[in-house]
Amino acid sequence: MLAVTSLSDIKSVGIVGGSLGGLFQAVALAELGLDVTVWERSSGRPDDRGAGIVLQPSVAWFLNMFCGVDTDQVSVPVTHRQFFARDGRSHHTLMRQQMISWGAIYKPLRDRFDSVRYRHGQPVDALTPRSDGVGVHVGGAVHPVDLAIIADGSASRHRGLVSPGSAPRYAGYVAYRGVIDEAELPEELSAVFRDRFSFYDGDRTQFLCYFIPGDFGTIEPGKRRMNWVWYVRADAAGLDRITTDRYGTAHGLSLPPGLIAPQVHTELLDRARRLLPQSVRELVKHTREPFAQAILDGRVSRMRRDRMLLTGDAAFVVRPHTAASAEKAAADAIALFTALQQIPSVDAALEAWERDRLAEGTALYRHGVGLGHRMGLNGLDATPVAGRAS
Ligand SMILES: Cc1cc2nc3c(=O)[nH]c(=O)nc-3n(C[C@H](O)[C@H](O)[C@H](O)COP(=O)(O)OP(=O)(O)OC[C@H]3O[C@@H](n4cnc5c(N)ncnc54)[C@H](O)[C@@H]3O)c2cc1C
Repeated sequence: MLAVTSLSDIKSVGIVGGSLGGLFQAVALAELGLDVTVWERSSGRPDDRGAGIVLQPSVAWFLNMFCGVDTDQVSVPVTHRQFFARDGRSHHTLMRQQMISWGAIYKPLRDRFDSVRYRHGQPVDALTPRSDGVGVHVGGAVHPVDLAIIADGSASRHRGLVSPGSAPRYAGYVAYRGVIDEAELPEELSAVFRDRFSFYDGDRTQFLCYFIPGDFGTIEPGKRRMNWVWYVRADAAGLDRITTDRYGTAHGLSLPPGLIAPQVHTELLDRARRLLPQSVRELVKHTREPFAQAILDGRVSRMRRDRMLLTGDAAFVVRPHTAASAEKAAADAIALFTALQQIPSVDAALEAWERDRLAEGTALYRHGVGLGHRMGLNGLDATPVAGRAS
């Protein structure tokens, strides 16, 4: 545990939401010796879905420093970026990166807490500011804490307490996603994508793919997974269609794996046949359970009100082209850890943290929207998402 001299005002911290954003904060603040409790709405450990994340420096630093993880052991290296043309030809450029999975980040963070400190299946119903902190309302009980961190994601219920009127908007396109066990890919297809971060930029569409760790974070060749993302424009009605599952249940902003409606799946395969280069199209064909998520734009004007802070996607929802959402969440936590350690007054520390993170989040938000514009993906039907399910 690290020595702390300036934290006499804060002893207890309540975290609303126990995904990556909440967990980064929980681990860093526990490392400062604070009494941290995480309340997470969902029951049980989430399904990894095998989804891929580009490993960026703050996440790597965090996992290494706070969790003792050697990220080289849980991420798949790529050496080049590969760009496809519609006729299937490709060229590549040198670009070394590490690809990790959501689960390989989540697990070491989550393993830091027992079921007393991390409470599954306990949604936070309300937060009430008090003179000496915040009341966290859970299932009829009120838990007083000195600091509350709101990490309840893009569909945040509590964001408005800190930054009213900041609900994200639908950006007008979806990311279809797929994950395939490497063992299920024909060798000649697998070889096309090995050691590569591959892209196809079409007319107002983009496809990208890379290998990520397989079960239990294995990076052994043959046991990894192929992860792909395909950005496709869809108006609000199209989004509703895509995210309404095979049983007629509307999921709003995302469609979980295994539930795609047969007609939507057929259309996806047909679209792939018409629009994608052959090897890329083959990946879509080999995917048993494609899933989807709406692309959102969300920015806040404040990240702090008294002793309540916003972090992760509850603050800024940036476009995935930045490959920086998990990175931003980790950086939020590292910045708070550093500010609380280095600035003698807690209020001054929180103020400095907010200034830094607002600037960073705003810059990333703009960068992501700019990237979407350049790909011609923006603007088909940008609508507020209030009222939709997450
Ligand atoms: C498929 C997929 C791929 C991604 N790829 C990338 C990538 O390549 N690079 C990247 O940087 N980022 C990527 N991201 C995004 C990244 O994972 C998130 O932006 C980041 O993890 C921060 O998330 P968060 O914890 O703030 O929000 P979330 O992950 O949305 O978590 C919010 C949590 O809060 C809980 N919650 C909600 N309401 C309540 C409540 N009232 N009480 C208690 N708990 C509540 C939810 O159950 C959830 O666990 C991806 C995300 C997904 C889903």
